[in-house]
Amino acid sequence: MSLICVPIVVEASAEIPLALERATRARVLGARMVEFRCDGLASEPDAAEAIGRLVKESPLPALVTIRSGDEGGTCALEENARLALLAKVARGEHAPRLLDIEFASLAPDLVRGLLSAALTPKNADDAPTRLVASVHDFQQRPSDLMRRVAAMQDEPLISVVKLAWLARSVRDNLEAFDILATRTKPTIALCMGPYGLMSRVLAPKFGGFLTFASDAEGTGTAPGQPTARELRDLYRFDSVGPATRVFGVIGWPIEHSRSPAFHNARFAEAHYDGVYLPLPVPAAWEHFKATLGALVDHERLDFSGASVTIPHKEHLLRFVQERGGTIDDDTAWLGAANTLVVHPHGTPDGQRLFATNTDMPAAVEILRAALDTRGVKLEGARVAVIGAGGVARAVAGGLALAGATVGVLNRTQERAEQLATALNGRTRADGSKTRVVAGTLDDLRARPTQREFFHAIVQCTPLGMEGGPDPSASPLPLDAQLSDATVVMDTVYTPRETPFLRAARAKGALCIGGQAMFLRQAELQSALFMKRW
Ligand code: NAP
Repeated sequence: MSLICVPIVVEASAEIPLALERATRARVLGARMVEFRCDGLASEPDAAEAIGRLVKESPLPALVTIRSGDEGGTCALEENARLALLAKVARGEHAPRLLDIEFASLAPDLVRGLLSAALTPKNADDAPTRLVASVHDFQQRPSDLMRRVAAMQDEPLISVVKLAWLARSVRDNLEAFDILATRTKPTIALCMGPYGLMSRVLAPKFGGFLTFASDAEGTGTAPGQPTARELRDLYRFDSVGPATRVFGVIGWPIEHSRSPAFHNARFAEAHYDGVYLPLPVPAAWEHFKATLGALVDHERLDFSGASVTIPHKEHLLRFVQERGGTIDDDTAWLGAANTLVVHPHGTPDGQRLFATNTDMPAAVEILRAALDTRGVKLEGARVAVIGAGGVARAVAGGLALAGATVGVLNRTQERAEQLATALNGRTRADGSKTRVVAGTLDDLRARPTQREFFHAIVQCTPLGMEGGPDPSASPLPLDAQLSDATVVMDTVYTPRETPFLRAARAKGALCIGGQAMFLRQAELQSALFMKRW
């Protein structure tokens, strides 16, 4: 079982009461160990006694660290004085369970002698402090990482091996997992930075000794450290184990994605042994191919599926095509997928990879149900889709396949025409053809002789989106002709009530927020992720 360890920085002995309070809170949050980072406290004359007091009064077993500047710490002591203090802490009456020393500092015989004496049991009942030897690289993966791992494993003085380096890609986590899986002694292998979250959450899957987590937002001691609450409540750290299946959302940027919250909650409700992570992958195809290929091919990882979002929806199709996987016909025709299912050993027909697009059926289901309440059948309805980007493609394609006549209304006329041409004229299940035409936003304006009104309008631009290009804008013309029979749907889901929806509601339309489509496409994904094949 992997522990959650909360690091607590103690700059001076005056901070000891606060540090102990934080340690108590850490225990409530589910931590089983605290790391007292005593870089600042180390400069005080009676530092060893102060650290002993911390350890004695701590409600959780303690790991004590006095980090040198070379490895990301702030300890101002000269090196020999720092090492002498560490040895004194280990020899003290209230010695910590674990003491962290940089592996690089262990090289001189003098240091090894000093520590060896401090760490030797004094009698048969003595449980001496154990040594965590650590390697940190805040820039990249150390080029001699494996050599150092081997040397640390061979060194009898070292009880726990600790490695932490800045991940330059999601792929770096996989090497951390391989190190854990082939360990010969307790090991901590963590990747720092935004790409490294996976190594922190999945430590229990690979038998990592512990993972670090902060007790509150902004109190972490390394880049990318999650909070203990996130680890336990969002990622269900306590139930991650060797058989846990791994899923994630692949996109760029991805920090604000709501998918991890949604899918992890669904796994919890269903008692499904899975965990879902944000997987940032930069925009280029090469990044996508290399990262997804590594995840899918890593046998120990049990990578079982992904939600794929901007800018990788076309890349997912290409990836699955190149790997000889299965893509359903509608998704292949659409040219963009948002869901990948990976069967660890293949389905009965031998397929490992399956890609589909759940945006299409989600938009169709929601609009069909809303139109039904107005006595209008989706088959034969006229629907305006505003925008001609990725979401507009899925919405227009799905509605056209369901039998609606779709008008693609876009700022750039040329893109509207391209999309309409791409989606128009496909043979549907009943033998009829899809009908998609290009238009402009003027087509929504009321005209005295208007005959071709729209039964529904779906907004597929980022207008009105919080943090988007124009949060206060709505693409609906002021004189748009709507009635209480018109169904209006936004795909923007933050905020819930966009300027577009407000304007449409004021004109009497039945309004549906973007949350509905987000939730439905995610529900469809979740069912595919948890399906037993
Ligand atoms: P996209 O591919 O970049 O396309 C954006 C479209 O919006 C383009 O047609 C663009 O027109 C148009 N547009 C952008 N700025 C505009 C402006 N100022 N005035 C008028 N038109 C403008 O984006 P996307 O992937 O389709 O995503 C669109 C939105 O869908 C996102 O912002 C997001 O909020 C929402 N979304 C919702 C869900 C869901 O499940 N509910 C899922 C994904 C995305 P031009 O062609 O003229 O550039």
